[in-house]
Amino acid sequence: MSTTITLAQEQDTLRVNALHALAYCPRLFYLEEVEELYTQDAAVFAGRRLHAEIEKEEGEEWQELVLENNELGLRGKVDALRTRNGQTIPYEHKKGRCYRDASNKPQAWQSDRLQILAYACLIEAALGITVPEGRIRYHTDNVLVHVPLDDAGRREVREAIARARQLKQTTERPPITSNERLCVRCSLAPVCLPEETRCAQDESYQPIRLFPEDDDRQVIHVLEAGTCIGKSGEQLKITKRDQSTTAIAARQVGQVVLHSYAQISTQAIYFCTEQDIGIHFISGGGRYVGSIDTRAGSIQRRIRQYKALSDPAFCLQLVRQLVTCRGQSQRKFLMRGQRGESANSVLATAIEQMQRVLKQVPSAESISTLLGLEGNLAALYFKSLPELLSEGVPSELQFSDRNRRPPRDRFNALLSFGYSLLLKDVMNAILVVGLEPALGFYHQPRTQAPPLALDLMEIFRVPLVDLPIIGSINRGQWDVQTDFEIRGQQVWLSESGRRKFIGIYERRKEESWKHPVLGYSLTYRRLLELEVRLLEKEWMGEGGLFAQLVLR
Ligand code: SF4
Repeated sequence: MSTTITLAQEQDTLRVNALHALAYCPRLFYLEEVEELYTQDAAVFAGRRLHAEIEKEEGEEWQELVLENNELGLRGKVDALRTRNGQTIPYEHKKGRCYRDASNKPQAWQSDRLQILAYACLIEAALGITVPEGRIRYHTDNVLVHVPLDDAGRREVREAIARARQLKQTTERPPITSNERLCVRCSLAPVCLPEETRCAQDESYQPIRLFPEDDDRQVIHVLEAGTCIGKSGEQLKITKRDQSTTAIAARQVGQVVLHSYAQISTQAIYFCTEQDIGIHFISGGGRYVGSIDTRAGSIQRRIRQYKALSDPAFCLQLVRQLVTCRGQSQRKFLMRGQRGESANSVLATAIEQMQRVLKQVPSAESISTLLGLEGNLAALYFKSLPELLSEGVPSELQFSDRNRRPPRDRFNALLSFGYSLLLKDVMNAILVVGLEPALGFYHQPRTQAPPLALDLMEIFRVPLVDLPIIGSINRGQWDVQTDFEIRGQQVWLSESGRRKFIGIYERRKEESWKHPVLGYSLTYRRLLELEVRLLEKEWMGEGGLFAQLVLR
């Protein structure tokens, strides 16, 4: 009885489950069916199906019946079919509780109701019979709810299909639901960020945290040339030149970073892609080389980004926020040098001058003006940065000015390597969210570096790179001989230096920061992704929270 579904038909017909999502929340439908965002967590919404757990019940003629009808435009798998008094009746099994009306009578939830009606209509259309009703068993309270199929029900299903088709044509994501309780049970909440939108739209709103505080998956850095990453079952296998092997469960890994000439097998690349594990490359000299871009379903996201970032006035506003954010962090970092010490006149002057520059940012009328202001802030900041180094720091680790490509002293070697790691992490977050790294709002595509990643890096430079470098130097963590390699005028980190830096940097990312508006804390490694999602909200009419990261 089951029919074979061809790829072409799949594109034309709609899954019945998609109508369930539509009735639950149109935005959920859009995220799943159009943007193809699914979570690996099977518990997507209330009342899920129980195929695996349900034994065939007495009287069931069919289980997991696959049907499709092109005229109706639906396809789906019915949980079970029974014949009662000569009538064919579809059954759905739901794990949770039923809905109770004002008189405490068991009812189906609206999304479940539409789903069973859609199955009933699909059976009518595919088998050419009349189906009088569908039934839903709610297992938690062991209730069987009857849902009659009449003309109004058939109309409801057809209207829902039409609405779904309409949504599939647009690139605009529908607004968040007004029913907050639905979001608490929606596993796409960390992608949708409904509470953040409510908070941005109403300052007095107290959001609940739906975005996870941390991502404790490891970032695997492979530093030794000749090391090979392979796949074995559900694990990544790291084999060194001496043939010693370490295996790590894929679910514990968030990124694989190949430094220098480490190898990765094709099987491991496929596996990482399936498991949403980022793969990035950093050269032996510490330069970010690139990432494997596995975005497949982010067309609508990129179209929205193109539209928004083609508007110069919109870009200008984002740049103001970005320059303010970075400048404030730089200034606050210098202010830390004033704590508990006798006044440092160099720092005091720079802090005051930076404040004056920052005041001009909100009224800057062009990006070139903002570039000038940002340059002034950077000059004041880097000139004063040596004041944050403790007495007794060896002369080899002192800092006089910023130089790069290649770095000419140890301090700049540390900065350059740190910014490479940061660029890699920002790229990882951009690819996870599915935006286009090549299209930024501030940096121009003058080099091969992706402009959007360079833009977003500005938010994190001080807290994730500058601050841990100064801290580690002041704690005497660096060996000026063994942690660096000097070739003529060029200074690089040695392998031991890179290993040490990675440890310091990854530990810093584990630290938490409390969002000043949202009021919840999250680790910096989670914040990288949150910032990209908040940036995307800026062009979805849900903005207002982007670039709030300022050191305290
Ligand atoms: S989180 Fe809320 S608004 Fe977003 S898709 Fe889920 S139910 Fe809809």
